[in-house]
Amino acid sequence: MLTIDCRDVASIKSELVVYVSDQVAAIPTLKIHEFMLSSLNDEKIDKNVVITAIKEFLESIGEGRNFAVISSNDVILIKSISGKTIERDPSPPSELFSCIHCGFVTNYEIELQNHMKIHYL
Ligand SMILES: [Zn+2]
Repeated sequence: MLTIDCRDVASIKSELVVYVSDQVAAIPTLKIHEFMLSSLNDEKIDKNVVITAIKEFLESIGEGRNFAVISSNDVILIKSISGKTIERDPSPPSELFSCIHCGFVTNYEIELQNHMKIHYL
């Protein structure tokens, strides 16, 4: 089980959880300042895939340069480089569009619409 410490990015945690757990096919457990990932089967979760997914997500919201993703043992820490955390209005809750059928997540509504077509073939 991996723990992702996201106290510096708490305002985007729920979106991050959706994105990352989808990328690594893991089951997330939410805590106040962190979330855990448990693998679906008994295989160990590839930490590098998780780190890459977190970085991709931060890039996608334009925060890639402002945060370092540091791993030690089974903990991955998302650390603000400048000390500044992401401030966001809690509503609207998400800029991500996710597929109601399979959980596919994207930043772009058009991409989701294209994706949804595969479910209606
Ligand atoms: Zn889908």
